[in-house]
Amino acid sequence: MFTKGEHGAWKVISQYACGCQIREVNRQFKGSAVVSTIIEYCPKHGAAPKMYEALKAFDEYLSTNYPANIRLKQIATEKLEHALLEAEGKE
Ligand SMILES: [Zn+2]
Repeated sequence: MFTKGEHGAWKVISQYACGCQIREVNRQFKGSAVVSTIIEYCPKHGAAPKMYEALKAFDEYLSTNYPANIRLKQIATEKLEHALLEAEGKE
């Protein structure tokens, strides 16, 4: 059964335990029907790019000496907090 969505009608082909889905999307493009397959990420996997940036920021913080690391710790912590909120579906 298809669901009408922003980018066309879609249905779930496969779903993983985490919530990620493989979807078939049908839409019209220049008068023709186009069928494509997309991955709809769950919040945890959708937050992966932000988690990566937070890890990079913490790596930079951990490899920098006091007092220059004080500001880096603040930056890394803020990135991590945003990534965790997104992963938990709160942002
Ligand atoms: Zn997932």
